[in-house]
Amino acid sequence: MGFDIAPTEAQHDLARRTHEFAAEVVRPVAADYDARQEFPWPVLEEAATRGFYSPLFYRDLIGDPTGLSLPMFMEELFWGCAGIGLAVVMPALALSAIGQAASPEQMLQWAPECFGTPGDLKLAALAISEPEGGSDVRNLRTRAHRDGDDWIIDGHKMWIGNGGIANVHVVNAVVDEELGHKGQALFIVPGGTPGLQMVRKLDKLGCRASHTAELRFDGVRVPAENLLGGQEKLDYKLAKAREAVEGAKHSGSATLGTFEQTRPMVAAQALGIARAALEYATEYANRREAFGAPIIDNQGIAFPLAELATAIDGARLLTWRASWMAASGVAFERGEGSMCKMAASEVAVRATERAIQTMGGWGYIKDHPVEKWYRDAKLYTIFEGTSEIQRIVISNALGAADGKPPLHFDLEPTGGRINKMFGRGTPLRGRAADAALAAKDRVPAPVMRLAMKVLRPPRK
Ligand SMILES: Cc1cc2nc3c(=O)[nH]c(=O)nc-3n(C[C@H](O)[C@H](O)[C@H](O)COP(=O)(O)OP(=O)(O)OC[C@H]3O[C@@H](n4cnc5c(N)ncnc54)[C@H](O)[C@@H]3O)c2cc1C
Repeated sequence: MGFDIAPTEAQHDLARRTHEFAAEVVRPVAADYDARQEFPWPVLEEAATRGFYSPLFYRDLIGDPTGLSLPMFMEELFWGCAGIGLAVVMPALALSAIGQAASPEQMLQWAPECFGTPGDLKLAALAISEPEGGSDVRNLRTRAHRDGDDWIIDGHKMWIGNGGIANVHVVNAVVDEELGHKGQALFIVPGGTPGLQMVRKLDKLGCRASHTAELRFDGVRVPAENLLGGQEKLDYKLAKAREAVEGAKHSGSATLGTFEQTRPMVAAQALGIARAALEYATEYANRREAFGAPIIDNQGIAFPLAELATAIDGARLLTWRASWMAASGVAFERGEGSMCKMAASEVAVRATERAIQTMGGWGYIKDHPVEKWYRDAKLYTIFEGTSEIQRIVISNALGAADGKPPLHFDLEPTGGRINKMFGRGTPLRGRAADAALAAKDRVPAPVMRLAMKVLRPPRK
């Protein structure tokens, strides 16, 4: 399927319903949850009732061949509030990791446990980062070792969304020290397992409606079937990793794969915040008068908003392209996942800062949501790979793709032989046009009009 930004009927309706939910349910309570730093259970309940909180919903969006459903949904939801948005979609992140690593049987067992059902909601967490290693996954120190029919996990995790309150924790741990980050595996640790301890709920700058925690794993025992993918697959993966280490080759890990796939999803969340801020600031600048005229009449106010509108649209196109690539199985050879995450997160920070500036003193106090959006946006240049890490991924890709032309040179062309012979810009078409013009005085007018119809740009 080609890259097409025209939404399907279902996508159009999804964006409309999500926007309605964000405007009617999420925004009105966002400031309150931000102030209290409380988990928004009633909003999750309403999300579940409206069909936005279930494994099948997210599998369906992830499986959409156009790739656009997921970023459209994320942008609308996070336009409402990023903290509440994170609380709603956190299990989808865990589900994505399960989806990549688990056997079909494990998927069937654990996916429902990540979400529950309306009236009996459940939560899931993806626990990767550690106090000593967020960006540097090679530095992870959580260990798992086999003990008979069980695995025993010991370690320390930091900044874990839904950590300690989740029913399902997807935890990565080193199982083979010598292989470093290639010797890691993912485990399911159910909430309440002895030895799993929530050290503290973290007190955050922004996205405060989401729960983020520090966790300890002290001799946490889980049955062998909680190893995602199973023992045989792990043995195979470790053997391949040993070969790669011996041959000094590099291969991805399930963890890194998760982040690469989820980057467009996170970029779309940042776009929701950026768009909210731009809309709010523009509306304010139209209404607010200074020196006898609306402040938007000043180019000092209007131009930065124009630049943001351009940058937000650019970031959205990058995000949709990356999402379409992921859905179509086109590899991110030029760091396309990182490009969209970097562009969207950085424009979100700029847009929210500019919204405050546009509103002057009113932007700086909590009467308006822009100061909250500013705090929320900052998370996006930090988690799921900091902006610096995105630059590393993109620059490494640049180095590897040295001399390669842009992506569209690599993609499979569409349109077939007729298009190749007579499509727009082909020599044959050019010659036909020249011949038609040269013969214009000899050819009857109706035939000429028909020829010109073929050549002119398409009209609605
Ligand atoms: C609110 C919140 C929620 C989170 N949720 C989760 C979650 O649910 N699950 C989870 O596993 N993790 C989560 N994280 C963790 C997050 O992914 C990490 O904080 C992030 O990856 C950065 O790691 P770090 O904090 O250890 O920073 P570090 O890796 O120590 O980086 C510190 C600084 O150094 C820079 N830096 C590091 N290496 C380089 C380099 N080679 N070149 C240039 N600059 C470099 C970084 O960009 C950064 O500016 C969350 C974090 C936050 C704040």
